[in-house]
Amino acid sequence: MKLAILGAGVSGLTLARTLAEGGFDPDDLTLFEAAPVPGGLCRSRTVEGFTYDVAGGHILYSKDAEVMDWMKAEAGGPSAFTSCERNTKIRFEDRWVHYPFENGLGDLPPQANFDCLSGYVQAWHERSVSNSTAPDDFGTWIQWRFGKGIAEHFMNPYNEKIWKRPLTEVSSDWVAGRVPDAPVEDVIRSAVGIRTEGYTHQSSFFYPLNGGFQAITDGMAGRVADRIRLNTLVESLQRTPSGWNVNGESFDLVVSTLPLDGLHSLMAEVPADITEAMQTLEFNGLVTYLVALDRPEQSDLSWIYLPHESQGPANRVTYMSNYSPNNAPEGKSSLLVEITYRGGAPVPAQSLEGETLKGLESAGLISRSEVLFADRAEVSHAYVVFDHGYNARREAIFRWMDEVDLIPLGRFGRYEYDNSDLCVSKARALAAGLLARAARG
Ligand SMILES: Cc1cc2nc3c(=O)[nH]c(=O)nc-3n(C[C@H](O)[C@H](O)[C@H](O)COP(=O)(O)OP(=O)(O)OC[C@H]3O[C@@H](n4cnc5c(N)ncnc54)[C@H](O)[C@@H]3O)c2cc1C
Repeated sequence: MKLAILGAGVSGLTLARTLAEGGFDPDDLTLFEAAPVPGGLCRSRTVEGFTYDVAGGHILYSKDAEVMDWMKAEAGGPSAFTSCERNTKIRFEDRWVHYPFENGLGDLPPQANFDCLSGYVQAWHERSVSNSTAPDDFGTWIQWRFGKGIAEHFMNPYNEKIWKRPLTEVSSDWVAGRVPDAPVEDVIRSAVGIRTEGYTHQSSFFYPLNGGFQAITDGMAGRVADRIRLNTLVESLQRTPSGWNVNGESFDLVVSTLPLDGLHSLMAEVPADITEAMQTLEFNGLVTYLVALDRPEQSDLSWIYLPHESQGPANRVTYMSNYSPNNAPEGKSSLLVEITYRGGAPVPAQSLEGETLKGLESAGLISRSEVLFADRAEVSHAYVVFDHGYNARREAIFRWMDEVDLIPLGRFGRYEYDNSDLCVSKARALAAGLLARAARG
């Protein structure tokens, strides 16, 4: 069975690796990758001795220990990784607030602490008395779950920065398991100054010692290097009686990790309703800046959240040089700044750099005189946006893909909020299915 895998990010690479390991003839595998290097969203870049992850700070963490071990092994085994304790904070005016916010209320100025605590207790009380179910839009959900104070002081401004649209347009479906859910007693404790942890998920994580997060996908790619066609944009995908043509070349089967929202543009005969469903899937792009600093880093922060407008357009900053000593030259440090933009809109202009640095300075994170340089990267697809039509569109698209035997895989291939570990487990599960299918003939 001749198989084409579209995209050599972590999903495509894992699929190819696992198939080859499972006895699939490597000569029957072809990965098409538009970029000059494999890795997709896991890519990293090194500039003047400073290494950063182009799609924002990446950490290796998985609830699935076997998957995590496999990913480490791909990059040279456990000794090729550093282990870090997660230390995440919110920069609130000139203070550091423990993350998650509701477990850090005692770090707030007294009035904000009161607003947040009183709102949280009221919301909790109203939910208990009315026995209400979770509202289906994220904006209303925030107030229902956290109350007015936390909504206004943190959740609304932070989420508006990252999602770039009214929060009522975003569905609340995606929050389960992603937005921490603190018991009311813990929130009261934290408001009066008794420390509560709140969020033990990812309390420690791993990061490659050298080469940034891309070291993981480099390891995978090295094992299937001769099957990857780099600098090869997939421009056409044509159904044939026996399978598919990719850029005019014939294959029995295609697995696509390409963004689902643009797939219709590669194919001639997509039904109009499916084209529309694809075109209206929503996403956000990302601009990142690596800010190289002429000073050692004194904190042990992992990453921080910036909710205020006065802190500039960035929503999150990763302390890249704290992840691995090799991420910055001796005596220097680096911050990686993330700024989202609405998917499909023009990429923010170069002037964003000035606004971003000004915001970091007013947040008290840097002084302009310490900045050696800023390096910019752009990612067209960073976040899936779960708007209200998301589920119906996706189901219709997958039904049609199933009919034409075109297999979707990956974060944007399936339009799922998956980190690399989940991409790995889904690709491995698909590989098992394809091996069984190949064996059936
Ligand atoms: C801000 C941010 C932070 C994240 N943090 C973490 C984290 O801490 N830990 C973690 O594990 N994960 C994290 N992730 C998620 C992780 O990056 C993704 O889950 C993973 O990289 C997705 O891999 P993929 O192979 O599914 O997709 P992609 O990496 O998007 O791969 C798709 C590939 O297809 C190629 N392609 C696209 N169009 C074409 C075409 N027409 N022809 C040929 N090739 C094409 C692309 O160049 C790309 O290489 C984060 C993501 C973001 C955006």
